[in-house]
Amino acid sequence: MKKVSVGVDIGGTNTAIGVVDELGHVLTKDSISTPDHGDINRYINDLAGAIRKLIDNAKLINEDIEVLGIGIGAPNGNYYNGTIEYAPNLSFNGVVPLVDLLKKHFEDIEAVALTNDANAAAIGEMIYGGAKEMKNFVMYTLGTGVGSGVVVNGDLVYGADGFAGECGHTTLIPGGRLCGCGALGHLEAYCSAPGMKRTAFELLAKYNAGDSLLADKSFKDLNSKMIYDAAKQGDKVALEVFELTGQYLGQGIADTVHHLSPEAIFLFGGPTAAGDLIFEPTIKSMENHLLPIFKNKIKVLKSELDAGDAAIVGASALAWKELG
Ligand SMILES: [Zn+2]
Repeated sequence: MKKVSVGVDIGGTNTAIGVVDELGHVLTKDSISTPDHGDINRYINDLAGAIRKLIDNAKLINEDIEVLGIGIGAPNGNYYNGTIEYAPNLSFNGVVPLVDLLKKHFEDIEAVALTNDANAAAIGEMIYGGAKEMKNFVMYTLGTGVGSGVVVNGDLVYGADGFAGECGHTTLIPGGRLCGCGALGHLEAYCSAPGMKRTAFELLAKYNAGDSLLADKSFKDLNSKMIYDAAKQGDKVALEVFELTGQYLGQGIADTVHHLSPEAIFLFGGPTAAGDLIFEPTIKSMENHLLPIFKNKIKVLKSELDAGDAAIVGASALAWKELG
């Protein structure tokens, strides 16, 4: 009997689901939209249906599998309570008892557990990725928002209430841009994919850059992939977006280093596909903001996990951990 667990990564746009074996191999995967279901109960019904279908598909490939757990990564996911609480980038309101709701559909499955999506990615990096040999590192996830998972002395840090490690909501610019959480000037408002878009529009206005490749995009349509494509073609505005995003990110990372003295910072998510365009200004800015005792010591690394699979694999690892 091959033991497997299901990893679920709930993002602002998509919910990715995968059936994962004990070695971290994704056997089958699928995704559903996160916001298109109307209310939470319909979302849970559709999610449960998609998980069942995926398990059936995995059994078509190998009928001798046993599903032991479901691990879920979600923004503001509370490991202790199994709830998603006031997630700024999700369409769900208030406190959602996600684990209890999902358990009703899976009474046959022993463990259903939930954590923050960035924590799940950090677990994935620790077990299967570039942090295998590390005891102290931080994972920054760059996407619709900016999340982070903190590992100290080999353990994921949850804190008193389960919400530790929100590096994306450190204040970079007092009184600055409105963040998705409602506060002003947080890192996420500058370094998330929508934050990069906002930087692009500020620069377009600043330089009156009608000749930029980004100039004819609407505020609604412009995304970080378009900015990357324009940067590759040498577009000055797009290149400066990456430069500024790296400056902001490096500033935030330096604070994280000062708090935790990690061996490495891992970056995960769409913008990391831009490679040096994002890593060079980030590292330069981090070094500029670091105390001398930390300079030239901290590695800033690209996550070694496949962008699509890291959060799924990490979430599935949470289920194994639940089972002890
Ligand atoms: Zn915030």
